[in-house]
Amino acid sequence: MQTKMLINGEMVEGGGAPIFVVNPATGEEICKINSATSEQASAAAAGAHEAFETFGQTSPAERSELLTNIATVLEEHVEELAELESLDAGKPWPSALDDEMPLTLDTFKFFAGAARTMSAVAAGEYVAGHTSMIRKDPVGPVAAIAPWNYPLMMAAWKLAAPLAAGCPVTLKPSQLTPLSTLKAAELIAGVAPKGVVNVLHGPGREIGEQMINDPRTEAISITGSNATGSAAMAAASRQIRHVHLELGGKAPVIVFDDADIDAVAETVRYGSFFNAGQDCAQPCRLLVADEVYDKVVAAVVDQVSQIKVGAQKAEGTEMGPIISAAQRNAVAGFVDRARDNCDVVLGGNMIDGPGFFYEPTVLINVAHDAEVFCNEIFGPVVTISRFGDEEEALKVANAGPFGLASSVWTNNTGRSMRMSSKLRYGFTWVNTHGVATPEMPWAAMKSSGTGCDMSVYALDAYTAVRHVMVAH
Ligand code: NAD
Repeated sequence: MQTKMLINGEMVEGGGAPIFVVNPATGEEICKINSATSEQASAAAAGAHEAFETFGQTSPAERSELLTNIATVLEEHVEELAELESLDAGKPWPSALDDEMPLTLDTFKFFAGAARTMSAVAAGEYVAGHTSMIRKDPVGPVAAIAPWNYPLMMAAWKLAAPLAAGCPVTLKPSQLTPLSTLKAAELIAGVAPKGVVNVLHGPGREIGEQMINDPRTEAISITGSNATGSAAMAAASRQIRHVHLELGGKAPVIVFDDADIDAVAETVRYGSFFNAGQDCAQPCRLLVADEVYDKVVAAVVDQVSQIKVGAQKAEGTEMGPIISAAQRNAVAGFVDRARDNCDVVLGGNMIDGPGFFYEPTVLINVAHDAEVFCNEIFGPVVTISRFGDEEEALKVANAGPFGLASSVWTNNTGRSMRMSSKLRYGFTWVNTHGVATPEMPWAAMKSSGTGCDMSVYALDAYTAVRHVMVAH
């Protein structure tokens, strides 16, 4: 097991307190990995700061080559990385390999190309006798913090765009799921210049806080909870820093009476319970037209009742465990508090035995102001609520703080266009949900974040627009 961190070109063991890494399917310890010390976190920041002097001046072609080399070296070890991911995060095998690794690798490949598309506005004379040019330059060293739900994919999203833009990165995976990222760090150490990529391990409240508050950090990039996003905003406000946030979601799935109900139910089965529902874009709250409500409930219950829950490599496992006992308790708490005010038609219980399993759960007749309708549960639970007409569906979907993912299900093209233009979400799928590609932004509105990951637009978060004027 690779347990060392990458600090300024060297692989080093953490000097801090040990953190137990647990297999969520058994609750047993996999290994323990020492946290970074404050001095080690500082050395990573110093390394990134120093590396910026040269890396910030590299050509797009050189950065493209680095990203290609990272993609290649990760691809050569893709099975090992997927094994670690599956073990550490409880992901069903081979889903860990076949569903997550392709997008993880493709993110680096995409940004290898995107790095070479960066251009600024051509020169012009706006004041007599002066020529103006617009430059887009890297903002500087980035502190990047990733969550536990898709550890390596989120690490890829956090690393590839800033590297393409010319920014060194110090990355911290979640302390719950460090294994795949630490292995990737070892591989990246073989191809990245000293200090350009640093990987730390440790608790968010200690090492993460230090990273985002370090004076040498010039941009903060977080994928995680809204509380962590607020911590980043607070840190950035003290020093005035760029902040890039991808936070929580509560995706509405708006089903009109002309929708393909079988497609909706299959998408719920494969999308809402993928990764045990621990997904920021999880299609988690269905808003269904009165006319087809009962049909949609029946179809969803039929599909979800077929999901096989089990350990990573158990035959036929479709859904694994929740990441930790604490997260499972949080999910159970949401469902238990909801029982009196809605109907639990499927699931609703912890599964006896080792590990942190919870039944795939469907709640129906959920009110639009219920806690389970308004708050992110982040587990294998979907709610199904009603709406009367298009206007009500839109109003209910747009209420509340979240603005990440949404989907609209209808065969009426005009209605899908109207809804898409008015939904206040970073992304809206029509007649599908959850399909992602690096060319397109993973965007956020409202409290779900600022900016986006993936796509050429992600480069904006890591570049500063500058004006150069030459008098002649
Ligand atoms: P979390 O906020 O608890 O932890 C995320 C990371 O932040 C971890 O590495 C953690 O150590 C670190 N952290 C925690 N407190 C910190 C602090 N004060 N300063 C610096 N770092 C700190 O989130 P989580 O529980 O790991 O992940 C689940 C959350 O992430 C959900 O809300 C989910 O919706 C969100 N998420 C969003 C996206 C997206 O693209 N929008 C993708 C995946 C997950």
